[in-house]
Amino acid sequence: MNKHTKQREAILRFLRGTYSHPTADQIYDEVRKEIPNISKGTVYRNLKVLQEMGLISELNLNGTVSRFEVKQESHYHFRCEKCGRVLDIGEPVDKELDRRVALRTGLKIHHHQLEFQGLCHDCQHE
Ligand SMILES: [Zn+2]
Ligand SMILES: [Zn+2]
Repeated sequence: MNKHTKQREAILRFLRGTYSHPTADQIYDEVRKEIPNISKGTVYRNLKVLQEMGLISELNLNGTVSRFEVKQESHYHFRCEKCGRVLDIGEPVDKELDRRVALRTGLKIHHHQLEFQGLCHDCQHE
C-alpha cells in the first residue's frame, strides 16, 4: 500500500467508525495518532480527494465549519446550539419537497439539506 493510499485509508477508517461528524481538524488529530508525521494540508487534500471519489460527504450548513461523514443515503441533521454536536436524524427525507419546489420554480432540484437546531439530550439536563 503506498503512502497516499495509507493516508486515505486511515481517514476513511476513522470516519466509518464514528457518528460524530468530525471537522477536518478533529480528523487530523485522530489520524495523527496513527500516522504521526502527516500534515494538516495532507489531511485536507485527502478529504477533498475522498469527496471527489464519492466516498465521503461534507456538511457545510449555515456557514459553519465543515464537517465530514462517510457517504450515505441523504439524511437530516441536528446541531446542538450549546455544545455544537451534530447528530443524524432518523427522519425520512421528504422527496416530495424537491418535486414541489421544482414544479413551482422550474428549477432542477437534485436534493435539499435540512438542519434542526436546539439542545441535545445532555445539554437539556445541565
Ligand atoms: Zn449539546
Ligand atoms: Zn450525518
